[in-house]
Amino acid sequence: MITSFYPPVRTLMGPGPSDVSPRVLSAMARNTIGHLDPEFVRMMDEVKLMLKQAFKTSNELTMPISAPGSAGMECCFVNLIEKGDKVIVCQNGVFGGRMAENVTRLGGKLVLVEDSWGSAVTVSKVEQAVQNHPDAKILAFVHAETSTGARSDAKALCGIAANAGLLTIVDAVTSLGGIEVDVDGWGVDAIYSGTQKCLSCTPGISPVSFSDKAVEKIKNRVEPVPSWFLDTNLVMGYWGAGAKRAYHHTAPVNALYALHESLVMLLEEGLDDAWARHRLNHNALAAGVEAMGMSFVVDADDRLPQLNSITIPDGVDEAKVRGLLLQNYSLEIGAGLGALAGKVWRVGLMGESSTRRNVLYFLNALENTFSELGVDMNYGVANKAALSIYQQ
Ligand SMILES: *Cc1c(COP(=O)(O)O)cnc(C)c1O
Repeated sequence: MITSFYPPVRTLMGPGPSDVSPRVLSAMARNTIGHLDPEFVRMMDEVKLMLKQAFKTSNELTMPISAPGSAGMECCFVNLIEKGDKVIVCQNGVFGGRMAENVTRLGGKLVLVEDSWGSAVTVSKVEQAVQNHPDAKILAFVHAETSTGARSDAKALCGIAANAGLLTIVDAVTSLGGIEVDVDGWGVDAIYSGTQKCLSCTPGISPVSFSDKAVEKIKNRVEPVPSWFLDTNLVMGYWGAGAKRAYHHTAPVNALYALHESLVMLLEEGLDDAWARHRLNHNALAAGVEAMGMSFVVDADDRLPQLNSITIPDGVDEAKVRGLLLQNYSLEIGAGLGALAGKVWRVGLMGESSTRRNVLYFLNALENTFSELGVDMNYGVANKAALSIYQQ
């Protein structure tokens, strides 16, 4: 007979989901109310307000999409791209590739600006592409490429786009809450994130935000948005300011309680302090990993503090190590993805997972596992190297 499912207790240090706070889990377990209940509507307004603060924007069209980050991506592309629009997409990992796929499926003309996996998007290449394609309408790029751990210069890229009159679509799934995101300061036109990375909420919701310029393009479309569910004109009937809260789809009521609580927690900590915490824990982890004799895929200047791609030492069975970490330490880290599959481990320090406790736990668990497997390493130094960062 099948009985209730009780998940094991894990420490989540992969590319997402990250550890979820008991505060968020207990918010999720509160009683369900109607998604048109005035009390629920009041909570929705608070969610929108807090999302604006997290994104640093005054964009009216800021709301959570009832589906994961990939749906936030589709929402931005499907609303902004019309058949024949030329779109410049920067690709330096898996998620830029998905952006490109969205463009071609929507009948857009794709211009791909490629960088190697592990590099940031090269700003001068984008400048060149914008010059070469004066008829381009949109520039799209991934701020925090989770498949490699590289951070691109969103401010510079948005500046280039704005100067040339292009709209921007920015993937902030892994960046929001972990490193600076400044939608109004950078002039981003469409941005999407996810709940399960640095917001440390349960998976399944995607916050999005659109500038007035983006809204204008959507309103002036010749053909309707080809997706009914993701058409912002329709969704805003439910989420919009002063909207009559018309039924569009049934909101994931309890998942939104969870998002509400995770945003309360982020703003209690403060954005700057959350970014500083991610930075500090990354520095400690990097010191430990490098002391052991391993190296990072991404140059120090372009590294994401919340996603650490570590090159697998020669001769080590990477899947075996991950298996032992899970089995003996209930610790999850990520495998490489795409071009980096089999070459790296991806160690996440996202949101609730970004703690001193987790950094030290990971370093010790990894060292013990290496020792068990007889891997040639610098033993007995990682902990000390990490602690020295905390003691500075
Ligand atoms: C995780 C991720 C996505 C996709 O989000 P899902 O919630 O898995 O659909 C998109 N872009 C980036 C950069 C991501 O890290």
